[in-house]
Amino acid sequence: MFSIHEDKALLDLLASIGEKPYRLKQIHQEFYKNLVLDFSEMTSLPAKLRESLASSVQTTDLTIDVTHRSEDGQTTKILLKTHDDRRIEAVIMRHLSGRTTLCISCQAGCPMACSFCATGTLGLERNLSVGEILDQITIAKTLLAKEQRELRNIVFMGMGEPLTNYDNVCEAIRILSDQKKWDFSSRRITVSTCGIAPKIVAFGREFPQVSLAISLHAPNDTARSDVMPVNKTYPLEVLMAALDEYVAITNKRVFYEYIMIAGVTDRLPYADELATLLAGRMAHVNFIPYNAWEGGAMRNYRPSSRVIIERFQKKLEEKGVPSTIRHTMGDDIAAACGQLARKHGTEDTKKDS
Ligand code: SF4
Repeated sequence: MFSIHEDKALLDLLASIGEKPYRLKQIHQEFYKNLVLDFSEMTSLPAKLRESLASSVQTTDLTIDVTHRSEDGQTTKILLKTHDDRRIEAVIMRHLSGRTTLCISCQAGCPMACSFCATGTLGLERNLSVGEILDQITIAKTLLAKEQRELRNIVFMGMGEPLTNYDNVCEAIRILSDQKKWDFSSRRITVSTCGIAPKIVAFGREFPQVSLAISLHAPNDTARSDVMPVNKTYPLEVLMAALDEYVAITNKRVFYEYIMIAGVTDRLPYADELATLLAGRMAHVNFIPYNAWEGGAMRNYRPSSRVIIERFQKKLEEKGVPSTIRHTMGDDIAAACGQLARKHGTEDTKKDS
C-alpha cells in the first residue's frame, strides 16, 4: 500500500492497469477538493479503477483513537494512532473570531527535552512520514466539514521539532500548498522551531511565505540553556545570526514565543534583556502563560501573574517591540502549549461524538 499523496506511485499504478494519466487529476479532485476518503465513493472514476485504487492506495494511515472537546467547545484534541501503535496528537482551535486553526505534530515524541514541555519527556519515538503529517489535516478537515467549518491556519506546533524532520515537513508543506491539491496558502502556515539554527536559513529560502515562530523562552544563554537544552548546541548568538539572515531573505517578521513561568523565565531583569535582544529586529513576541502538567509540578513550575506578564509587555513596548499575551485554549483537556503527551483527557472532559 502507498499513500494517496504520492503522485509518482499513483501514475505508475495508472500506467500498470492501462489507465490514462489524466485520471490523476480526477483522483486529486475527489480526494483534495471533494474530501472523499473512500475510493468506492469516488463516483467520477470507473468502478474497476476504484477497485484497483482501494487495494493499493491509502487515503489515511492514521486512525482516530479518541477525541476530546474542551468544556467551552472551542478546542478539540484528536489522539491519533499510527500503524505501529504510537500515539500522536492534533488540536483544533475554534477562535471566537470564527477562524479555525489546526495544530499538528511532526514527530512521535520529541528529542529536544524542553523542561516545561510534556512531549519533551517522551524522547524521540520516530519521525512522522509525509503521509502521517498530512493525515492529521485530512482527519481535521473531515471533522470540521460536519460543522461547516474550514481550516484557516495550520501551525506545526504539536508534538516534535519540525526542523529535525526537515524533509518530510517540507514535502508536506509543498503538497498542502499545491494548487492542484489542497491549495492552502503558505501565508496561513506557521512552523515553530526551538531554534535549529542551520535549518532556519534553508527553510526561509525554500518557503519565504511560511511564517516562522521561534520558541525563545529566555533572553540569555544561561537562562535559556536551563529550560531548553538545544541552546547548548545553538546558543543565542548563533540563533539570532541565523534569524537575521532569515529576515534578510524573507523580509518577514519572526514570531517569538515566550513562556511565562513564575520565578524561572519571568524574572524582571529578563524583561530588559528581552527588549534589548529584539529591539530593531522584525519581531513579534507571544507571551504564553505556563500551562500546568505533572512533570512541571515536580519542578515547581507555576504560571506567572498577569501583572508580571504586563510588565514584560511594557518593557518591550518601550523599545518598539510588539507583543501579544496568548489566550490559553484547551488547558482542561491537556491540549494547550507544552501539554501534549499522549494524555487521554480527564473524566470531566466532554468526549466528542
Ligand atoms: S517545546 Fe517543542 S521542541 Fe521543546 S520538547 Fe516540546 S515539542 Fe519538543
